[in-house]
Amino acid sequence: MVMGLERSEQIVRRVTILGSTGSVGCNTIDLIERHPEAFSVEALTANSNAELLADQARRLSARLAVVADKACYVDLKRSLQGSGIEVAAGREALIEAANRPADWVMAAIVGVAGLAPTLTAIRRGAIVALANKECLISAGSLMLNEVTKCGATILPVDSEHNAIFQVFDFESHDSIERIILTASGGPFLTYTREDMEAVTPDQAVAHPNWDMGAKISVDSATMMNKGLELIEAHYLFGLTEDRIDILVHPQSIVHSMVAYVDGSVLAQLGTPDMRTPISYTLGWPKRMVTPSAQLNLAQIGNLSFEAPDIQKFPALELARQALKAGGSAPTILNAANEVAVLAFMDGEIRFLDIPRIVAATLEQTATATLDTLDLVHATDQDARETARSIITRGLR
Ligand code: NAD
Ligand code: MG
Repeated sequence: MVMGLERSEQIVRRVTILGSTGSVGCNTIDLIERHPEAFSVEALTANSNAELLADQARRLSARLAVVADKACYVDLKRSLQGSGIEVAAGREALIEAANRPADWVMAAIVGVAGLAPTLTAIRRGAIVALANKECLISAGSLMLNEVTKCGATILPVDSEHNAIFQVFDFESHDSIERIILTASGGPFLTYTREDMEAVTPDQAVAHPNWDMGAKISVDSATMMNKGLELIEAHYLFGLTEDRIDILVHPQSIVHSMVAYVDGSVLAQLGTPDMRTPISYTLGWPKRMVTPSAQLNLAQIGNLSFEAPDIQKFPALELARQALKAGGSAPTILNAANEVAVLAFMDGEIRFLDIPRIVAATLEQTATATLDTLDLVHATDQDARETARSIITRGLR
């Protein structure tokens, strides 16, 4: 199993995983362990799960293991004693991990916390498999400028963007009419607004089709995830907001589509297993064998599609408006959403307060042009404080 290469032609790809202990991180490790001859692991990073990180580092013979939370350093050090694996902790160490000479870097930290390490890998000119959509939404233009300047390659991991990447004719941009992002609709697709007022964090993280981290699962339940993906698609594929459609498709089989000017629509289909899009980036430009179940359409029988209900899912419209407004609006939208999702998970606010807090934060924060990274960070911090104070004061 060597990604379709003959053994003699095999090149070992040196990889780093930022956020190796999360859902995307663990799926990436699963693929690497199935193709040990094709990869060597430079660095693995986690926020605080030192035990899992140490276990992964040993299994994959990583050179460096980094934990962001300094309080976890002692545990990590003890777990890796005698292994010969370097150990470090803190935000600077995360940057160091991203700076190590890996050919391919998985950016799978959740939230804007992943921005600095992801940019570090980009500035090295690495191939960056991008799962961490929040950093692109927060600093899109700046990130893309760095990609061009430093000769980096961004490969989208998000299943929708990965699907589009697979069927998008980059040689003939003019032939593309629009792209269509599919959305499962999340666990509350058939709920009324009244039902949604009372949902709990446990219900919100229980996604019907995908097994993902808590934050993105809540984002899927509010459909803010699709709103963030709209902005992500704008940056990745260079299309304006009016040429990106959102289509609810509850089975999560058609992962997204590209509509061409001649009326053709090209789609990528597959069972909902993140190992397929991750493998597409890990083996790129070759395809890899994966354990994802093969699609059996006869068994599935029916695929259905419907327009999204923006009254029930106001987050979709908030994201569209933020993308239209441009400048710092997506940065503010993302920061407020990160704060609101955490507050919901902590039981501080109700589910439908999430888009309300995002809307109120956008209303209270003037938008500006963001032409430096310092400005992105300052805008992100301001929006977080505004969102926090809205939560503390109460919305009503
Ligand atoms: P997760 O919560 O399961 O994992 C997040 C990882 O980031 C963990 O390794 C955690 O230790 C690390 N981390 C968290 N906070 C950190 C911090 N402050 N500093 C350093 N490291 C930190 O999340 P996930 O579901 O794997 O998602 C990761 C990213 O990929 C998100 O941006 C998400 O939107 C995107 N994504 C995920 C999926 C999926 O299937 N899970 C699909 C598409 C896109
Ligand atoms: Mg997605």
